[in-house]
Amino acid sequence: MAERYVYFFGAGQTEGSKDMKELLGGKGAGLAEMARIGVPVPPGFTITTEVCRLYLRAGTYPDGLREQVQSALERLETATRKTFGGGASPLLVSVRSGAAFSMPGMMDTILNLGLNDTTAEAMAAESGDARFAFDSYRRFVQMYADVVLGVHADQFERLLEGRKHARGVREDTELSANDLRELTAEFKALVREKTGKDFPEDPQDQLWGAIHAVFNSWQTPRARAYRRINNISDDLGTAVSVCSMVFGNMGDDSGTGVAFTRDPSTGEKRLYGEFLVNAQGEDVVAGIRDPLHIDGMAQALPGAYEEFLEAARLLEDHYRDAQDLEFTVEKGHLYLLQTRSAKRTGRAAIRMAVEMVDEGLITPEEAVLRVEPDQLDQLLHPMVDPDANVHVLTTALPASPGAASGQVVFNPDEAAERGPHEPVVLVRRETSPEDFHGMVAAQGILTGRGGMTSHAAVVARGMGKCCVAGAGELVMDEGRRRFTVGDVTVHEGDWITLDGSTGRVILGKVPTVEPEPTDDFRRLMEWADAARTLRVRTNADTPNDSAVARRFGAEGIGLCRTEHMFFEGDRIDAVREMILAEHGAARAIAVAKLLPMQRADFEGIFRAMDGLPVTIRLLDPPLHEFLPHGMAEIKDLARKLKQNPDKLRSRVEAHHEANPMLGHRGCRLGISYPDITWMQAQAIFEAAVNVQKEGVRVCPEIMIPLVSTAEELRRQREIVDHVAEEIFYQCDARVDYLVGTMIELPRAALTADRIAAHAQFFSFGTNDLTQTTFGLSRDDAGRFLPSYVEGGILPDDPFQTLDIDGVGHLVQTATRLGRGVHADLKVGVCGEHGGDPRSVEFFHNAGLNYVSCSPYRVPVARLAAAHAALKDPSRTRTSEPAPVSDRALAEQEAVAAD
Ligand code: PEP
Ligand code: MG
Repeated sequence: MAERYVYFFGAGQTEGSKDMKELLGGKGAGLAEMARIGVPVPPGFTITTEVCRLYLRAGTYPDGLREQVQSALERLETATRKTFGGGASPLLVSVRSGAAFSMPGMMDTILNLGLNDTTAEAMAAESGDARFAFDSYRRFVQMYADVVLGVHADQFERLLEGRKHARGVREDTELSANDLRELTAEFKALVREKTGKDFPEDPQDQLWGAIHAVFNSWQTPRARAYRRINNISDDLGTAVSVCSMVFGNMGDDSGTGVAFTRDPSTGEKRLYGEFLVNAQGEDVVAGIRDPLHIDGMAQALPGAYEEFLEAARLLEDHYRDAQDLEFTVEKGHLYLLQTRSAKRTGRAAIRMAVEMVDEGLITPEEAVLRVEPDQLDQLLHPMVDPDANVHVLTTALPASPGAASGQVVFNPDEAAERGPHEPVVLVRRETSPEDFHGMVAAQGILTGRGGMTSHAAVVARGMGKCCVAGAGELVMDEGRRRFTVGDVTVHEGDWITLDGSTGRVILGKVPTVEPEPTDDFRRLMEWADAARTLRVRTNADTPNDSAVARRFGAEGIGLCRTEHMFFEGDRIDAVREMILAEHGAARAIAVAKLLPMQRADFEGIFRAMDGLPVTIRLLDPPLHEFLPHGMAEIKDLARKLKQNPDKLRSRVEAHHEANPMLGHRGCRLGISYPDITWMQAQAIFEAAVNVQKEGVRVCPEIMIPLVSTAEELRRQREIVDHVAEEIFYQCDARVDYLVGTMIELPRAALTADRIAAHAQFFSFGTNDLTQTTFGLSRDDAGRFLPSYVEGGILPDDPFQTLDIDGVGHLVQTATRLGRGVHADLKVGVCGEHGGDPRSVEFFHNAGLNYVSCSPYRVPVARLAAAHAALKDPSRTRTSEPAPVSDRALAEQEAVAAD
């Protein structure tokens, strides 16, 4: 039997279901499921994603497809008692794309397909409404020409505007049937002029042209860009749903709308959406006419409204998740055209998940999986300072929360160009999918038109980017690159601030404040913590960062980069003096200056992290970051150090390195200048003993950087252990501590068994490990790596998401070798990857004990670790974990006793 490529839905003959999303796409599966559970949908059929894959691979359709489509069309004709391409009652269809993952605005929809000069007249006669028939016809010609024939919609809009102007009317609905008939002819003439061919009259040609266009649209740059940003595979392909048309533009008892079963911005449980009376299809989403709030439908179309409420409730219960619905009312009859999981802001995702647990709809574990770790980022980002004195230009729709300040740009290409280097806010009358690259690069998006479900709003929310939409008071003058609000004119390059939580557009750059976590956030994170097994620490170098991270739930410090402590004030001079010292005695003087500063730093950090482990990494500066640059700086330093500038310059030159990232850094410094290791160990142990006396519980873990041989670690550890014993003796006190190493060079990973003989823990420095595995400088990679990702040579930037095949392999190898020596060797990660959700999943599966990331990423990593645990097939743990500090201490004691 030939493979099946077409599935019918509706009219009691549904063949698909919600579980066939991969084959039928989200839309096709949703339509099938709605039909199955009794929600009214117009009947139709779906061509599978398999056809798209075959078509894109071979350039032709598989055998049997045309026959299957024809037979489905005939079933549709029977079900609707209409005829495709003729008869007194012509069958019109919509053709829509739908991949397994929803891709808003990425793919194109065609409505009213099947209309031509003959069927339009038949439709006018049948409905007794020529205006309606020709309104549908001109829309079809425009949409089809735009999507299939590549004649930009703007040119049709111009003709439409011209006609409205000539008639002296404002709304499309005020044009007569004759106007629309003539306009359709003008549209078709435009198509002939632009394409050199007549607009296709045969509905079969129209249908196959549309199917073709949908499949091809899978490959457009904007679809590809969306997939790349959302990590959707290029291999999935899209389905095509062909659905019998229902009409929202059949008069005042008709309409169309979109609604969410819960507020997608705040998560509040209330129907949220917009609708337009006597309008069709994309009018609401396109933001062309200002729609009514969905509540207004209760008065305009009360019967259909009640039915819609019931359908919305049914669908939310059935899917056990907030739904994003599209519907049309035709002469009082309701039809649902789409249901899909509602895209939502991070704030909304948390509230919905927590409230659904309280409503008994989902379990806490499901709630944890309902919130994407990266979504938390939005909540952890600053908001406009409520106490700031602000000049509010206008207040519009709070389409996507957060705050964004930047210089105004009007052109998406310019936003894309400038955005990576400086903050810009993209200001547009309305956005369309062509603007996507500019929206990605901008800090925030402001539109003059459109509602909460406009393209700008939907896409910005999906990206977690601040957006204020529908600012009707804005008078745009894109030609002169400016807009005005009242008597204020804002030019390109001027600063504005958007407040996506209140919809305020503010003149200038406004201070922001940290958000306070909500109760819902706390509850969700408690469930996440109960589910995860991977610990989450933070990378922090100051008491303040440590305190912030602790508030975000960090279970210790995984990396304190001590060289960062030396960048402040005149400390840098003492470091320079230490590095450039001519002999041991001079170095000892410089080192002695640094000791009290370091000790005070460590005391502050230990206090902030009372009861939690603190991993302090010994000095690892690439030398060029510390040495003075240029003669002026050298002279200045010479004056401070009371040295001869020329002599000093030659010392600086002696330290010059061709590639400082691979040079005299990490433990190589400590090996050359043991006094530095000595001083740092002394500062750590004195600080530990001091604060322990105050009653603080300290758990120092001393980490040796950039080790490539076991001998380097052995020698550095010898110094640390020796200093510890001396300080403990002098102070008559002891502190439990560990000494471990970073694994950040391939040689270290490959000889991890030998290294483990001297280490009490490993921490992967995946930044350097990526750099050295690829042989790719982390500072220079940015110049060409994006083109590697764009061109598909690499799936991701390996400095952001771990390269599992290469670097990941080294992580697994080193862990196995290390644990072969000490079965319970504690292993963590402190490179940037510790805060990247996909990398965190890998670290969980690789059996690591913890990840460490920047303070603001800590909740993201906690949630990512919970996702990894909940998705782990070998998962057994169901009990609650012990409180953080007790666990950390128990772990510390266990390792120390080893
Ligand atoms: C690393 O290399 O991953 C690391 C954490 O160290 P740094 O970034 O300081 O080199
Ligand atoms: Mg490193």
